[in-house]
Amino acid sequence: MNNEPEIISEINKISEDAEKLLNSSNNLDELESRFRNFAGKKSKIAAILHNIHLYSAEEKKIIGSKSNEVKNRIENIYNSKKDELSIAERGRFLSGRGIDLTIPGNYIEIRHKHPITAVLEEASDFFTSMGFEIVEGPEIETTYYNFDALNIPAEHPARDVWDTFYLLNGMVPRTHTSSVQARTLEKKQLPLRVIAPGRCYRYEAVDATHLFMFNQMEGLFVDKNVKLSDLKGILEETVRHLLGARKTRFRPAFYPFVEPGLDLDIECVFCGGKGCGVCKNTGWIEVIPCGMVHPNVFKYADIDPKEYKGFAFGMGFDRIVMLKYNINDLRLLYQGNLDILKQF
Ligand SMILES: [Zn+2]
Repeated sequence: MNNEPEIISEINKISEDAEKLLNSSNNLDELESRFRNFAGKKSKIAAILHNIHLYSAEEKKIIGSKSNEVKNRIENIYNSKKDELSIAERGRFLSGRGIDLTIPGNYIEIRHKHPITAVLEEASDFFTSMGFEIVEGPEIETTYYNFDALNIPAEHPARDVWDTFYLLNGMVPRTHTSSVQARTLEKKQLPLRVIAPGRCYRYEAVDATHLFMFNQMEGLFVDKNVKLSDLKGILEETVRHLLGARKTRFRPAFYPFVEPGLDLDIECVFCGGKGCGVCKNTGWIEVIPCGMVHPNVFKYADIDPKEYKGFAFGMGFDRIVMLKYNINDLRLLYQGNLDILKQF
């Protein structure tokens, strides 16, 4: 049996037909469906290869190599026709709409994050690198979490220190992120290290260093053997990371939810410690109120203050941004003025 010439001429015929039909396709859809007829699973070439076992070993070699040669040829024809039709269709599309690709486009300015957001993220990264977790709490808070659970009972004069907005339903826009501290302790997943960044609200007259709304970052570290030196170490490192090498000092301060309570001051960045209007001529600027968690705060959360110790701090975040970039008026950060924001 010698089918060789017959089948080979059949394959040659397929090749010729394919070339004619593919090259005369008028559009991409037509080309695609014709190509599938010549190269798909149901094509004549596929059928020939499917039956190749009927031939002798020598014939198989000839038929196989011829079939592959034709398959490649069909594919090449298809590809170059496809390019040709694509370019033509694109040209028709663009000229139909009057689009000229040679006209220069609109310039898109590259923007960046607001300095408060950027520094907040930088600080969050720094704390998470030390094993702190980020937690959040509600901005509209109950007086229990905002005051009572932080050792500031009703009628206690300390409550007056926070100029608080009260809502008609008795809730308060939180005056500090310390409320998140009370909520976190209540869960009693000890030991813990958390930071809670967020907005706070106080009934204050707006001036260069006070707004009715501001950003704070609360920190809380609780474990069995936490000491004041841990607080000092971590906060000094935080200042170094966010504001660079600055002289710092701790001085005693009263906050009802810590004992002892401290303020971390840094040397005034505006006058270098000589004394100016911003630092009220003291040469120092208060940046982080902090202290060891008051035993009563632990008791509110049903944690034994003899077993656990901890420290907490509440960083006024807007102030950190002011100091980092030498901004002397806090209001500038909230005006949405691009001439100012572009400078960062
Ligand atoms: Zn100063």
